Amino acid sequence: MGFIAEGNTLAWEDSIKYLEYIREHGVIQLLNIIKNNKDKVTEDFKWGDEVEYILINNDNYKLKLRANEVLDLLMLEEKRNPTTVEHLWRPEYGRFMIEGTPGSPYSGLGKQLLKIQSSLKSRRENVEKYLKPNESILTITSYPRMGCKNFTDPQAEVKGPIAESKFLPDSVINPHFRFSTLTANIRKRRGGPVSINIPMFRDKNTPEYLDQTTYEKVAPVLDDSDNSVNDISSPSNQPFNIFMDAMGFGMGCCCLQTTFQLPTFDDARTVYDQLAPISTIMLSLTAASSIFKGYLSDIDARWTIISQSVDDRNKEELGKIPLNNNKFVINKSRYDSIDCYIGSKSKSFRSEYNDLDLVYDKDVYQKLIENGVDSLLSKHFAHLFIRDPLVIYSDKVEIDDEKNTDHFENIQSTNWQTVRFKPPPPSSSIGWRVELRPMEVQLTDFQNSAFVVFSAILVKAIQDLKLNFYIPITKVDENLKTAHKRASVVNDKFYFRKNIFNNTPNGSIENEYELMTINEIFNGKGGDNKGLIGVLRDYISTLGFDNETTELVNKYIKFVSKRASGEIKSISTWTREFVQNHPAYKHDSIVNDEIQADYLQRCLDISNGTIYDSSILGNKDDYYC
Ligand code: ADP
Ligand code: MG
Ligand code: MG
Ligand code: MG
Ligand code: MG
Repeated sequence: MGFIAEGNTLAWEDSIKYLEYIREHGVIQLLNIIKNNKDKVTEDFKWGDEVEYILINNDNYKLKLRANEVLDLLMLEEKRNPTTVEHLWRPEYGRFMIEGTPGSPYSGLGKQLLKIQSSLKSRRENVEKYLKPNESILTITSYPRMGCKNFTDPQAEVKGPIAESKFLPDSVINPHFRFSTLTANIRKRRGGPVSINIPMFRDKNTPEYLDQTTYEKVAPVLDDSDNSVNDISSPSNQPFNIFMDAMGFGMGCCCLQTTFQLPTFDDARTVYDQLAPISTIMLSLTAASSIFKGYLSDIDARWTIISQSVDDRNKEELGKIPLNNNKFVINKSRYDSIDCYIGSKSKSFRSEYNDLDLVYDKDVYQKLIENGVDSLLSKHFAHLFIRDPLVIYSDKVEIDDEKNTDHFENIQSTNWQTVRFKPPPPSSSIGWRVELRPMEVQLTDFQNSAFVVFSAILVKAIQDLKLNFYIPITKVDENLKTAHKRASVVNDKFYFRKNIFNNTPNGSIENEYELMTINEIFNGKGGDNKGLIGVLRDYISTLGFDNETTELVNKYIKFVSKRASGEIKSISTWTREFVQNHPAYKHDSIVNDEIQADYLQRCLDISNGTIYDSSILGNKDDYYC
């Protein structure tokens, strides 16, 4: 989950005196980055993926809290051969999670595309070398019974001092200090445990009010939590609600991300903008999480859960009480959709697309402007700087701003947005990069490869064909909400441009876009409108791929196309159906241990190839493994 430094982390009380210092030097470091890199040109289209895994006990299907031990072994390989190692392994929030990326970024498209799936396959094998016989890894977005009684191996007590959660023991948190400090500091900054609330799926026997721990039907009771700053207070006060109270519910979810290096600063800005509208649609298309805390939920995607799980805004920032000790009323969590476009140099950009009343730090903005940064980019960064640094390392406060970017990265890496604009690291040959962040991880290497390859081809096509996905940023926000809805990929409509080739602003913005289904967006509306898939197919045919590459890429594209049409089910839909059809399911929205065990076994069987389920994998002829 981003930037990790070694060192001693400060508790919130001890951080406060450094907040302004870190921000101030973060801005200086940012200015140095821009000064040193604004004219940088990188020729190669370099890119890579990040895949997150969870570790389970395959006898009892509990979450295994020892991924950190596995990670230590995996990382030894990197220490021995830092430049030639095949995969890079990184810690993630959960003590049951690991993240893998290719050992070095892929370069270009073409034959590279044949390597993605083999990289993912060999990543699994790499981890499996270090597992005990009763352990398995899975690429599922949310562990279904996270936060239910005794869901971990080893078992542990809840209400620990770090998260103070009624449901999650602190031992689910990665033992690296960054993660516990982040958890505790978010809680302290906001003034109480986080409060995550999502709608429960209403089945025919689902009681309106359920005790969130025992699953017993209860009468509504008055709020017993004094710390619910969101006004979404006690769980039992709301009918058909799933209540969660710890960062681990969100940051314990797994995702699939891709990062792309673009030739220049301006190219990266353009691609950043173009991926923003796409990102919300990719969330819907990859939706893979429909069970939370042992309940079938009424949403299909994790994003809002993470958003609520790291929401450190206090009452002043939420606008509940007048501003006194804080500078801003803030409209979103630090984990949310982007608030402004930055590609002002692109021909298709219109300033009216930035129609959100952007909250930004005026002093930071001024400092950036005075140093020659243009207004739009200054606003983007000044928006990131409305947040406090959450994890400060006591031995890394005073650092050389010419050589380091830690303070900038501190702010940047805890603004978890749908797309991230990643400046080059200090003294490296790496260029300006953009990261696509919302995709949910899929069960099999084929499925994940399909989305990784799709996103890479899309980014290259955005560059080469000057594709234009601009819609007003407030519409992107609406799309993000829609993307969470149950089966939104087939049932709902998203704002999308009528013409993705038209780059000349002309006429009213409202005429540029309309509501479309994902099937229409991807597979077209007939006639001239071939949809995104049609555009990419044409584009691929110009890339001169050999037969083998063409064949495999076609399989990936076909898979994405069929996911968009609904012919291939989303993991979320498939999961719901699995539960609904399970003999132990009582149509009360509760996913008990028995159902979870069978579900996770099915996930294991599918990911290791023992069972082939064409409803989520497509025709066998179109599959590759
Ligand atoms: P974070 O967690 O901050 O997003 P990671 O280091 O985990 O960062 O992942 C970075 C991703 O970027 C990986 O997929 C990696 O392969 C890819 N990558 C690394 N170097 C480059 C580069 N020069 N250009 C584009 N992508 C890169
Ligand atoms: Mg990660
Ligand atoms: Mg990462
Ligand atoms: Mg990432
Ligand atoms: Mg934002």
